Amino acid sequence: MGSEVRVRFAPSPTGLLHFGTARTALFNYLFARKRQGTFILRIEDTDIQRSSSDFEKAIISDLKWLGLAWDEGPEIGGDFGPYHQSKRNDIYKKEAETLLKKKLAYRCFCTSEKLEKDRKEALKNGKAPKYTGRCCNLENSEIEKRVKENTPYSIRFRINKEKIILKDLIRGEKEFSGKDFGDFIIMKSNGFPSFHFAVVVDDAYMKISHVIRGEDHLTNSVRHIMLFNALNFPPPDFVHLPMILDKDKSKLSKRESSKAIRDFKTDFLPEAIINYMSLLGWSDKKGKEIFSLEELIESFNLFNVGKSPSIFDIEKLRWINREHLRKKSNEELELILIKTLIKEGFITRENTGTERRKASLYLKAVRDDLVVISDLDKYLNMFFGVFSVESEAKKVLNAKESGEILDIFLSYLTFEDIGLEEARNIIKSY
Ligand code: GLU
Repeated sequence: MGSEVRVRFAPSPTGLLHFGTARTALFNYLFARKRQGTFILRIEDTDIQRSSSDFEKAIISDLKWLGLAWDEGPEIGGDFGPYHQSKRNDIYKKEAETLLKKKLAYRCFCTSEKLEKDRKEALKNGKAPKYTGRCCNLENSEIEKRVKENTPYSIRFRINKEKIILKDLIRGEKEFSGKDFGDFIIMKSNGFPSFHFAVVVDDAYMKISHVIRGEDHLTNSVRHIMLFNALNFPPPDFVHLPMILDKDKSKLSKRESSKAIRDFKTDFLPEAIINYMSLLGWSDKKGKEIFSLEELIESFNLFNVGKSPSIFDIEKLRWINREHLRKKSNEELELILIKTLIKEGFITRENTGTERRKASLYLKAVRDDLVVISDLDKYLNMFFGVFSVESEAKKVLNAKESGEILDIFLSYLTFEDIGLEEARNIIKSY
């Protein structure tokens, strides 16, 4: 590998951007920025049934909201495009053809029913299910006959049974044996590449220098190294980020599946989310915990990322958010407040000017107590809502003496700040 850093974030648009996936994007981004490298966004949309352009739009908008700008990818292009896998099928087909010719891959005519039967059989015998190799040595004439008959087939990679070393830049070297892997599909019978094949071909063609992704991809990386070798491309360096677990130690992705980045938007500032994410797996040597994105670029070191899982702690995120809210100027907070007021229907876009003063008074009263953004909403009704008087209070206010008492009371208010106790005493004395 040359010394130029080229990393990619490669989401599948089959759902929203989740916290754990966004952390992968952040670590890739920070590493690229730190090393003056290139951060690439690649959309892995080969699963045509589950991918949708709405999810893609949502992922892109969340990445932008977090401030993670890419240097090559959708919307901006680049020298290594297209950046959607669905538009790269010719490349995958060509590379699969090469592997077929070299006999490093073969056509597999097994139906899904047959494969399912094999799988059940293996499980029944207490074995890990893997492809039996039924089609790996079919005669050429047999293959030609079936192709002529239009029998659907997938293309499988012929695994080299030798040992394989996975070198992870933070975990060190780990040895695997090809014998433990079954020949896997690289082109599906629908003509699209499998996840493994598309990733490797793209990483090779896009000259990716470092593959940084979650620990759940560890065994995938072994398959990927085999493919890089077979395709005659130098493999990139690998880094597997520790998992993010929930407090009860289950996987975040399973337990908090509803925790998409957008679920955090009403309560948390993007800079607070970025800051908190950076601490899930990495820590500053000097113990500093509050960072802006720019400061993170400066301090972040991929090689200080730990191996053990991180625990998602909402209280810590709240604390970090509070710190970032405190750093906001009154003007910045005012903008957030005005947006909320418009959204909640307290004011219209047109009368923001007249409400500015009220908004700044309101902020003076609440800003020190803000932990999450929605804390801003607590007293909105009181300040900006229609003033309503309950019937019990109306009775009191309608009484003969009320006007007189309130007049006197108001005269105190114009002169000095009075506390609750004092107000009670004034009213009682009349
Ligand atoms: N599309 C894959 C995923 O969302 C990307 C895996 C990778 O980074 O290679 O898990």
